[in-house]
Amino acid sequence: MAHPVPPDFVVIFGRPGSGKSSLAERMGAEFGYNLIRTGEMLRAAIRRHDFLGQRVESHLAKGDLVPDSLIFELLEANLKSPGVSRLLFDGFPRTLGQVPLLEQFERRLDFRIDCYLEVVVSREEAVARMTGRRVCPKCGATYHLIARPPKVAETCDRDGTRLERRPDDTAQVVEFRQQVYDDHALPILDHYERKCPDLCRKVDGAQPFEAVYAETRRALGVRG
Ligand code: AMP
Repeated sequence: MAHPVPPDFVVIFGRPGSGKSSLAERMGAEFGYNLIRTGEMLRAAIRRHDFLGQRVESHLAKGDLVPDSLIFELLEANLKSPGVSRLLFDGFPRTLGQVPLLEQFERRLDFRIDCYLEVVVSREEAVARMTGRRVCPKCGATYHLIARPPKVAETCDRDGTRLERRPDDTAQVVEFRQQVYDDHALPILDHYERKCPDLCRKVDGAQPFEAVYAETRRALGVRG
């Protein structure tokens, strides 16, 4: 791939704890991607206590996936604007059933995914990392106590809100979410590997964050 700039429409995959959301945030800041983060949209709906939030709260607390029909509803509400530029999907598609939903949005909003990026870490490494994860309950920014600490302990760099542990980062839920990833995401990655191998990229997520980010830029064809 010889893109002087990164592809415009990217899907990022990685097991919970792989660091994919931190990478997505950094890519968004550097290259101006609009982040489409279904997990964050769902948590925002729960914080607002709106109709969708009430229906998805127990799924998130258990680490279970939200039904495809509700994900469709969520994206319908959030992915409307035509003339979309630079989208980075983080957390969608999450099941084989959501693959055709993405294709539907591609047709309707007239864009084509030009890179499927997988951040590869072992299940054991991911579990170890998840215990150090913290999020900002206000803006959704993600931190890690060791790998990506905030400037002031337990405080969001962006808005000064006290950071929290996600309720789905507890030990049993963490293991369950890894299993959900193995059961649902791995078949999606196989699907894209078969359908469009030239659009698929992998980066080694088991390195320090800066090294993963540098490898990601190279994988996306960004030079310098
Ligand atoms: P994330 O922030 O991407 O780790 O997502 C947190 C939780 O939101 C997941 O464990 C699921 O319960 C739910 N979720 C996020 N995205 C999806 C999706 N595309 N399909 C189904 N459930 C999702």
